[in-house]
Amino acid sequence: MSMHVHVRLTDGYAVTEDGQLLEHSSCHCGASWEKTYRVDEGKPESI
Ligand SMILES: [Zn+2]
Repeated sequence: MSMHVHVRLTDGYAVTEDGQLLEHSSCHCGASWEKTYRVDEGKPESI
């Protein structure tokens, strides 16, 4: 089998109660991630 490399497709963003930016992303294989950014430490590089 060939190695699958996840492709993170951004599903959307939300803001947590803490004021952090929460990024929802998923791969076509079904894997998903949630990543938070601390807004007070700078903006995410992926945008
Ligand atoms: Zn994948």
